[in-house]
Amino acid sequence: MSSRCLVIQVVACATTEEARREYLAADPRADLVELRLDGIRDLDPDRLLGAAGKPKLITIRSRQQGGAAPAAARAALLRRALEARVEYLDLEMEDQDLPFLRRTGSTRVVLSFHDLVATPIDLPALYARLRAARPGALVKIVTFAEVPSDILRVRDLLRAAEPGSLIALCAGAKGVPSRILAPLWGSAALFAPRRGGTPSAPGQVSLEDLFEVYRADAITPDTRLLGILGHPLAHSLSPRVHNAALTALGLNTRYLPFEAATLAEFLPLLSEMRIHGLSVTLPHKERIFAQLDMVEPLAAKIGAVNTVTVRKDGSLYGSNTDYVGVLRALERRMRLRGRRVVIYGAGGSARAAAFALTQAGAEVFICARRPDAGRKLAKAAGGEAIKRSALRSQEFDALLNATPIGMFPLEKVSPLAASELNCTLVMDLIYRPIRTKLLRLAASRKIACVSGAEMFLAQGFAQWEHWMGSKAPESIMRNAVLRTLKNEENTRW
Ligand code: NAP
Repeated sequence: MSSRCLVIQVVACATTEEARREYLAADPRADLVELRLDGIRDLDPDRLLGAAGKPKLITIRSRQQGGAAPAAARAALLRRALEARVEYLDLEMEDQDLPFLRRTGSTRVVLSFHDLVATPIDLPALYARLRAARPGALVKIVTFAEVPSDILRVRDLLRAAEPGSLIALCAGAKGVPSRILAPLWGSAALFAPRRGGTPSAPGQVSLEDLFEVYRADAITPDTRLLGILGHPLAHSLSPRVHNAALTALGLNTRYLPFEAATLAEFLPLLSEMRIHGLSVTLPHKERIFAQLDMVEPLAAKIGAVNTVTVRKDGSLYGSNTDYVGVLRALERRMRLRGRRVVIYGAGGSARAAAFALTQAGAEVFICARRPDAGRKLAKAAGGEAIKRSALRSQEFDALLNATPIGMFPLEKVSPLAASELNCTLVMDLIYRPIRTKLLRLAASRKIACVSGAEMFLAQGFAQWEHWMGSKAPESIMRNAVLRTLKNEENTRW
């Protein structure tokens, strides 16, 4: 990160005491702390303004400005902050009319512009207007990324701005890469709450994640990018897993979340950024075919691509590692050739599993709530459709749940009853929670269990192999997944 990029820890608490505690315990990596006074219910300004610690940026946004302070109270609070000689004060254009703010002494002004609905078309003109309104102020422009390519316009603005004069980023889920890359692009500061802290804008990445997951402070123009493309991505584990491996191996590569509702809105990023590989998730696994130069034959048969590798000549190669994930997770436990395996569900992951298993020589049975969908998948993959009643009357070697039943927030529900588990192994494709109700039922019947986390990991290892051309650091990735899932489980159960 350039030395000009200030790390600003956002403190947006609901009470004075919480804000004071967070301020006093600020992360050592923060250069200053932004105290958002407007959201504090029982605000005692002196208790915060007088606290000794990191330099302060005081922000008090009115309701019209997207904050919570009554407009009338705001001017008085700004005056108090100025009298307390805080290091930075956040002002908006309309504050320019307040006479007491004409001279701010040793307090530096951050002149802010926020548009939490869109990214204005003419950003250079906006920057010029803010610069002219208050010479010497640090200009801050926060816009909303309606489409991922909005971040490219913010990047271009940062690159053209006078060094050290501008903080710029895109809010919202589609703007997340701009928060991670803003320091590289020349932003004068980044804003981040502590992990678990209250965010003050949508799409904020925690300070810990910026430094420990994305290593935003060490991103250089040579940094290669990988990422996950999908919508929504808020709960994706993939950035955590792949970045843990990249960090452990000291590779100058980062794995970012690229949230995009349509492929068209993402494609400008693919051509303008150093993206070398992508995990592809819903809703793009089928639509991505139209963009690919080559597709792995089995992925073409399955009709879904979850991995894109950008080759040296810029061509795009699509593959499907979900099927590798199913195979590797199961093959650790049983030889599949000749085994009777039933898949419950007939959606995307059931399809990958069915092709994988028939390919491995297993006898595949599809049980779906819509018999038509079950028959169609069975026919395509070379398996047999069965009725639900067959789960009670027949025996199988393995049973896979490929429905979302049992996934958070339905974690107390099992897709199947104990009497339908007539097999020696049950695999749940769900990995949140790691021990689903179905796996608990199976374990209570002494049936071997495989969590969807095994499949998730195995498909991630296979993705790494595609992108890096080498074996994945499996134990590092495994630990990253298990640590995250176990933490989630401990907080939930
Ligand atoms: P999908 O394409 O939407 O398919 C879901 C399937 O479940 C469909 O056949 C659907 O039937 C069926 N279903 C939904 N609700 C049902 C219900 N109440 N009773 C019976 N069947 C029901 O989803 P997917 O992508 O295959 O994902 C399925 C699960 O696998 C998800 O929980 C996902 O998180 C998990 N997954 C895990 C991994 C991994 O790496 N571990 C990878 C991919 C997916 P209809 O068509 O009739 O709706």
